[in-house]
Amino acid sequence: MRYSENKDQSAELLRLALPLMARQSAALHPISYTLWYEHVAGINPPLSAVLEASLAGKLPLGEDDVYDLHARFVVARDMEVLERLQHKLRQVLEEAAQTAAVALEDSGQFEAALRDTRSRLTGAVSLETVHAIIAELARETNRMQSATEAVHQRLESRAREVEVLTRQLEQAKSEALLDPLTGLKNRRGFEVAVSELGRAAFKDAALVLADIDHFKEINDKHGHLLGDKILRAIGATLQSNIKGRDIAARPGGDEFAILLQQTPLAGARALAEQIRAAVAAGRIRRADSKEQPGSVTLSIGVAVGGAEDTLESMLARADAALYAAKRAGRNRVSVDSGEPVTVAATAIR
Ligand code: GH3
Ligand code: MG
Repeated sequence: MRYSENKDQSAELLRLALPLMARQSAALHPISYTLWYEHVAGINPPLSAVLEASLAGKLPLGEDDVYDLHARFVVARDMEVLERLQHKLRQVLEEAAQTAAVALEDSGQFEAALRDTRSRLTGAVSLETVHAIIAELARETNRMQSATEAVHQRLESRAREVEVLTRQLEQAKSEALLDPLTGLKNRRGFEVAVSELGRAAFKDAALVLADIDHFKEINDKHGHLLGDKILRAIGATLQSNIKGRDIAARPGGDEFAILLQQTPLAGARALAEQIRAAVAAGRIRRADSKEQPGSVTLSIGVAVGGAEDTLESMLARADAALYAAKRAGRNRVSVDSGEPVTVAATAIR
């Protein structure tokens, strides 16, 4: 969502949020700051209720709590905003349809009045009758004219509302489906993209699931800012290694997913290996000390799909392969092809 506080207001919120955030055991990174900022700004009451309970119970929030609360109260709230906008848009369109129906009724009445006049004009009629009919017609025409104008104005203002709502909806939709850190799709965006592929989305497709090795340690040792820099760099590596139809996402935490369409196992494994090697060869430095966190590596699981596969079954198989890669020593690619097979990493440098 977009925050509406100006610089002074947000500086005051920062002053209020800092001491509350400092009492927690979680690090002071943007995810925890978002929680405390929204709390002191009073813009997320359900989140505030949870945070107040944790303050009252003197239960400091740890890393996992912070990510969990962020997913439940910030990301989910943004999805709700999207649903509300969609609902409002439907309402406006229904109102416009009703207005059009009323206009149709008015024009029906006008048509009936004209028909009636025509029938009254057949045969011999006196001059007074003609005058009376003309006066009646003038009244009906005036009434119809103002009714048409009112309908026109109402429809015009509805059209403007629809335009504004559609723009907000487009923006909220793309924000809700993207991970702001890497620009890749988030979990929901990945699910939506897969569902748009329709039935048999996984026929002849492969799923690559990657997870950073010992990322917690890297965060603890070098700080979350560097952690975020690593997540962004890995996101960019994924983007530069995939083709147009492939879908890359960061479903959460330190995990990345790529759906490769029309890709056999050998191709998917080669791509996973290429990404693994590129990340292992990459060098990321801390902005402050230029210190390097040693080599950052990925463990990767690959699963190929069939017509009957669902996102859930694919994720489960790719996750099993990923787990096998972790167990086998990390920094490697493991393949699931029915029975889990572990393939030792061969360096491509
Ligand atoms: P393993 O090799 O078994 O995967 O070990 P790990 O330490 O990477 O595993 P774990 O899942 O325990 O750690 C993931 C960590 O990722 C925990 C959390 O602090 C961190 N994390 C999750 N999301 C973010 C984020 O957006 N930014 C940063 N900097 N860290 C994050
Ligand atoms: Mg990890």
